[in-house]
Parts: sequence; C-alpha cells; structure tokens
Amino acid sequence: MPSIDSLAERLSTYLGPDQVNLVRRAYFYAEQAHDGQLRRSGEAYVTHPLAVARILAEMHMDHHSLMAAMLHDVIEDTGIGKEALSAQFGETVAELVDGVSKLTQMNFETKAEAQAENFQKMAMAMARDIRVILVKLADRLHNMRTLDCMPHEKSRRIAKETLEIYAPIANRLGMHNIHIEFEDLGFRAMYPMRSERIRNAVRKARGNRKEIVNKIEESLGHCLAREDLQGEVQGREKHLYSIYQKMRGKRRAFNEIMDVYAFRIVVDKVDTCYRVLGAVHNLYKPLPGRFKDYIAIPKANGYQSLHTTLFGMHGVPIEIQIRTREMEEMANNGVAAHWLYKSTDDEQPKGTHARARQWIKGVLEMQQRAGNSLEFIENVKIDLFPDEVYVFTPKGRIMELPKGSTAVDFAYAVHTDVGNSCIACRINRRLAPLSEPLQSGSTVEIVSAPGARPNPAWLNFVVSGKARTHIRHALKLQRRSESVSLGERLLNKVLAGFNSHLDKLPGERLQAALLEYQYEALDDLLENIGLGNRMAFVVARRLLTDSVEPLPTQEGPLAIRGTEGLVLNYAKCCTPIPGDPIIGHLSAGKGMVVHLDTCKNISDVRHNPEKCIQLSWAKDVSGEFNVELRVELEHQRGLIALLASSVNAADGNIEKISMDERDGRISVVQLVVSVHDRVHLARVIKKLRALKGLSRITRVRG
Ligand code: MN
Repeated sequence: MPSIDSLAERLSTYLGPDQVNLVRRAYFYAEQAHDGQLRRSGEAYVTHPLAVARILAEMHMDHHSLMAAMLHDVIEDTGIGKEALSAQFGETVAELVDGVSKLTQMNFETKAEAQAENFQKMAMAMARDIRVILVKLADRLHNMRTLDCMPHEKSRRIAKETLEIYAPIANRLGMHNIHIEFEDLGFRAMYPMRSERIRNAVRKARGNRKEIVNKIEESLGHCLAREDLQGEVQGREKHLYSIYQKMRGKRRAFNEIMDVYAFRIVVDKVDTCYRVLGAVHNLYKPLPGRFKDYIAIPKANGYQSLHTTLFGMHGVPIEIQIRTREMEEMANNGVAAHWLYKSTDDEQPKGTHARARQWIKGVLEMQQRAGNSLEFIENVKIDLFPDEVYVFTPKGRIMELPKGSTAVDFAYAVHTDVGNSCIACRINRRLAPLSEPLQSGSTVEIVSAPGARPNPAWLNFVVSGKARTHIRHALKLQRRSESVSLGERLLNKVLAGFNSHLDKLPGERLQAALLEYQYEALDDLLENIGLGNRMAFVVARRLLTDSVEPLPTQEGPLAIRGTEGLVLNYAKCCTPIPGDPIIGHLSAGKGMVVHLDTCKNISDVRHNPEKCIQLSWAKDVSGEFNVELRVELEHQRGLIALLASSVNAADGNIEKISMDERDGRISVVQLVVSVHDRVHLARVIKKLRALKGLSRITRVRG
C-alpha cells in the first residue's frame, strides 16, 4: 500500500527536506479536500493523486510538479478555487493545477474525430508550462492503470482519448515508456479480445523462440568480445499494440511479424556505436536498404539510434538497435530525462521551461547538425512555446491561428466571404467585440450579414496576413468603385454648368485628355476626381474648349445620397445632417468632406470652385447622422435615464453622453444623438423640451 511516508522517503533521495515537506503539506491538503470522496475501486480518493505524484517522483520531477500532482483534482472535484490554492501554495503551483484542470475539462469527444493531431497541439498550446503536460500524462497513466474499475462505456471512451491524444503527445515529447504503456493499456480497454489473443500468441511464440533468441544473443556477445567492444546485448519484444497495428496496417500475419528477432545493444559512447555496427555487419549480412542512422539524423522528438536488419543463421531476420546509454535514457523518457539526470537546483518561477528548453535545445542542435531543423520546428517548438491559438468553429472544426488573432482573423481563415461580410461574433456563445484576442479552446461563431463590408478599423487589430491582405483588397475595390462614381457625378455636375455631359463629349477629346493626364482609362480619371486629386472644374475645362465661358448654373447643386461610402465624409466640426444647407470640400487623396454651409473651418475656401462645390441632399437620402446637443436643465435624480427615454421616445439614438458641469442646481449635458434628418432632430428636441426643469437646449455646430 503506497503511503505519503514511502513517497517522502523516495523524494528525499533527490529533493531537500523543505521541498519534501511542501509536498507533504500538499498531500494533507488534498486528503482533507477530497475527504469523503472515494475512487471507483472503493479506496479513498487521495490514493489517486498520491499515485500520480509517485509516477512523477520516478521521473525525478521538481517539488512544484509533485505538489500540483497532489492537488490536481482539487479545483475540478471540490469547491476550492485557484485563488485559495495560490494563497496556500503559491502562484506556480496554483497555475499548474489550473492548467491541468483546464485540460481535464476539455471534452475531446464531442468534437469532430479526424482532428486528433490538432487536439494534441491545442492541449500543448493551452498548457503554457510543460510541467502541466507531464502532470496530466501521469494523471492519465494512473487512470489507465486502474481502468478496470470503470464501467465499460466510460473506460472505452477514456481509452480512445488516450490512444488519440495522450499517447501521441507522449511520443512527441520523446517519452517512449509512457507512450507504449498508454498504447498497450488503451488497446486492452478498446479491444479486450484481440489484445488477449495477441498476448497469448506472443507468450506461446516466446517459448518457441527462446532457443533461437539465446543463440543469437550469444553470438552477438561473442562478436563484441572478439572485437574488444563493451556493450550490453538485450533481447527486445514489440509491444502488443504495435504488433496489432502492423497486422492491420501492413496486413501482415502474426507469424511473419514474430519471425523477426529484435535486439538492442547499449554502449558507452557514440564512437562505439559505429564500431559495433561494423562488427555485427561482419557477423551477419545486412539486409540492403534497412540501415538507418538516427544518430546523425535524429527523429523529430530527439530519438537517436542506429537501426539495421541482418540475415541471421538459416536466414532469420534480426533487427538491431545500437545506441549509447544517454540515448537510451532520452529514448525512454524524452523531455523528462532532463529532470531525471540533472541536479535539482533551486527552482525559480522564471525557470519553469528551463529543462524543456534544455531538451529542445539539445534536439535542435542535433537537428541542425543533421541539416534538418524544419521537421523539428514543425513538430516540437510550436507545441512548447505556443505561437498559435487553436479555436473551434461552431461545427467543431479546429482552426489554427497566430497568437493574438481576433474573430476577424478567424472569419477570414474560415473563408474570405465570411470575413468580408462579418458584423459581429460570439465567443463561447456570448457576444464579444470583434477585436477581442481569442483564447485556445474557445468556440467562435461569426455573425455575418449579406452586403456588409469590411471596416477599415479592423486593420488596427487583425494579426494574420490573410485577414490583412483581404481587408485591404476589399477596401481598395470598394474605395475605387465609390471614387469612380463620385468622380463621375462631380464631373458631370460641372459639365452641366457648360451645358454638356460626359456622354456628349467627342471621343477623341476624351482620349487626348486621358493621354495628357497619363491615365489608361476614363475610370482612372474619375477615380482621381472622386479622391480629390484632380479638380472636376479644371478637368471639365480641359475637356471642353478653353474658350467656353461657364453658363449660370441651372442644374443645381450635387445631391448627396448618403450611400457614397468611404470617399465621402461628414465633417466632425459641424456635423451636418440632411436638411442643413451644405457645401463639399475636396482635399487631395481624401475625397470630399461635407460641411455646413456656414462652417467657419471652410470660410476661406468656400468661394474657390476648385476646392469647394455646392451640395444638396437627395430626396431619398439614407442613413443615420450624428448631431451634438447641449442640454441645460435642473439637476434631478435619474436625469440621464430621463434624457435617454425622451430621445428614445422620438426614435433617436444616443451615441454618447457626458455631464459637463453641475453647479448644484443646473446640469449641462452633452449628447451625441443619431438622427435621420432635421425633421427627425426637431422631433427629438421637442421631446426633450417637454422635460421638467429644462432651461435650454442648443445644437452644437463647430
Ligand atoms: Mn486525476
């Protein structure tokens, strides 16, 4: 029966007494927190965290990891929160426990199945600290070892998740021992019959093979001795799940797989590996094409070894792995090997990744030496230092986005059309701002509207290149078509003053003008007029003969429809609304700005026909226009609510509200209200005037 005392004894072989005591404290805390809870086996619940800590102790994990292991189910299963743990055991331990809980809560099953790999990445990205993953793997390992107590359905579900998510994560991190234990336990729970059949077949084959295995082992041993090479020869058996996969995947018969004899030779240094290779190739002929040098070119998870296959006596194939003791440790324990064999210095909060980094650095160096770092970076670095977030679509598909991505990035990642027409989003079913950075594991839903257009403000917060490019492109297209149509109206308006029209102009005259201005097409000219780069008045004179005198304007001013888009802006200084007398000010590159006819800001240029143009409002002008009101009224309770309900009663909408002064009796409130036109504004003002205690109301203009 494992106990905290025996664990403490084990820990004291590599941790200091203070650290061991902290682990003890965490144990007693967990024991109390889980008091009354039982495992399915009938044991007290605390035996589970204790066993998880034990697994981590075998890997020589630090005291923070062990404390987190003790407490790993506390947040999930008891009423105790992260803050309470932080107060008791410090920030680091609380963060680790919180990270493990988040992984535990993640329901992999309800989502689409074909994405196991993305789930692995997501799990990694969610765990900012590699120790979270290691605690979670140990937790899962103990649950797998005690799976028999679970009801059948549940054990199958856990086993499936282990095979699809956790076994590959262990593999990515180079933790071979845990990887194969996950696979064999998962296999047994998923397919008890098949697993049992293969186990029996292996046992039987082992008896038959014994003689040959001994013979080969002996001759390999002699061979090393002859060459004066130090090495330990070990017989090796494939684990059940890999036999099963070979039978299924490669459609090979059991006997065919078992006919292969596998050995490992562990030596002291790299140089010896190659000498042993030479020696065994001298002993038996190597099978062509089967030699692999994973020492020079390590696998993505840092695995190193020499692999070769030999023709033994009577032609039996013999698979040989040759590696150093250090490579053996790495192959078995992967990232955890660095806790195992390096001394534990004082753990600093900043150094949480130090050992993982050390491992990664080692692997990276190996890969660089092999000139093959790309695969490594793809597989490992991203996972441990997450530069990505992983989020779900409403249908459960996983999208991989750069860190800091927002719902707009997500929308463009789904499809350009979705991005272009998006207007709002829900994150985990709640409406959220489009600019909010997404967190891994969230579900994101885009609300789109037909005919909606990208907002230039999105460029301030999107991070993905795809979103940026598409927004720019859409805005450019939109701006171009809007500029062209505004330019055309401006030009025709001036031409009308000369009793002419674009359609009436002779073609050669147009061509000559385009040539002179160096535009390829008429649209280019119109676009530049719309953008304010060319003055419609000047262009019109160039298109007509210069001698023509302007007729008194009969056409009336250009009518504003409210649908001009990005090239037409309403001045912030005087906030014109339909019904107001207005004037248009053209400035290069910016298009036209609509001011009140009386606005002081344009009084200098208002008579310059190259800069300003008379405007009117079209009869069917559409949209909402902001207007600023200043309201003075007696101070009273619930004043803002009163104002709001009055504006609302007149179908107006308050965009902004601020209370400027309060001298005890009189309050001055600045309101920005959006209205359709002057008539609408008058209605709003009338409602406001009806308020009790109102002394003055004025519209603010510049
Ligand atoms: Mn657990």
